[in-house]
Amino acid sequence: MPYLGGTELAQVYRRAQGERFALVASNFAEPNTLLGVLAAHEEMQSDLLVQVTMGAVKYAGSGKPLAGLRALARYVQAAAGEAKIGVFVNLDHVTPDGVDAFIRPALAEGLCSSVMIDASALPFADNVHATRAVVELAHPYGVLVEGELGVIKGVEDHISSDDAFYTDPDQALEFVRETGVDLLAISVGTEHGVSVGHELVLRPDLAQAIRDRLRAASVPRPLVLHGASGLSADQIRTLVEAGVCKVNKDTTYQYVYAQTAARFFGKNEREILPPPGVTFDPITFDAGGGTWRPNKKLFDPRVVGKQIQDAIRAVAAEVIAQAGSGGRSIYG
Ligand SMILES: [Zn+2]
Repeated sequence: MPYLGGTELAQVYRRAQGERFALVASNFAEPNTLLGVLAAHEEMQSDLLVQVTMGAVKYAGSGKPLAGLRALARYVQAAAGEAKIGVFVNLDHVTPDGVDAFIRPALAEGLCSSVMIDASALPFADNVHATRAVVELAHPYGVLVEGELGVIKGVEDHISSDDAFYTDPDQALEFVRETGVDLLAISVGTEHGVSVGHELVLRPDLAQAIRDRLRAASVPRPLVLHGASGLSADQIRTLVEAGVCKVNKDTTYQYVYAQTAARFFGKNEREILPPPGVTFDPITFDAGGGTWRPNKKLFDPRVVGKQIQDAIRAVAAEVIAQAGSGGRSIYG
């Protein structure tokens, strides 16, 4: 399927809320991760939700975010064009200063199914204001909006109180009512990146309390879990059972990518790099007059790339199984 808009994505989330499963939202910035994740979703008959951050699109566009977003979104559309699953694109962690430069053109050009506005670093009233503005901007295009309440601990954040890392259920209700967001990213003790220093206590009970508070007030919303890399299968299942319908994965793929590449190059180093004392010129292929040559069967980037795709496919299939979205595609 060519990728789909917010209306179809809202259907997927409604089903996820009713049947207690989660969509895995996979971050990517280049083709190997995307193709690995896509293969896993096709194999598992799970709808594909990929997402890009500002950092990812800047990387893909060589410093130009909109060029990078167009390139990545069209790559998804083309690569997943034949897939018999729903395919969706989310803009992940757009801060208020990126709304005009990034969200507006993405909506106008139909490049996304949903957007996340992350104003969680602002005071509550300002977060409400910034999030509501994006809801008003996106809904006429049929694009869903994810807001965030509570700060998710990152590798380089500067917040010292642990309380700031947990979403308050009463505030969550007020936030949803005031902003009209379609999805709510909550903070229940997960962390962005590989955690450093002390670990936060994971609070599935808090996810459940937020879910119950929203349902009781007749504004049920799919909850979103950021920083889900590093959690066990049991922890993911418990959080999905508690109302999480979108599980973000980024760091796991990054590590699997690097692990696969490091192993490959470590194992094949002698066939790619010349022995000590010998130099090899990549333009003239001169090896100082000697006969040493690198092995093209190993240095062709598609060789390590295929191994990376396979490794990501395997880990993505595991994550889909944990989230329970296998066999539940809207085209199933
Ligand atoms: Zn996040």
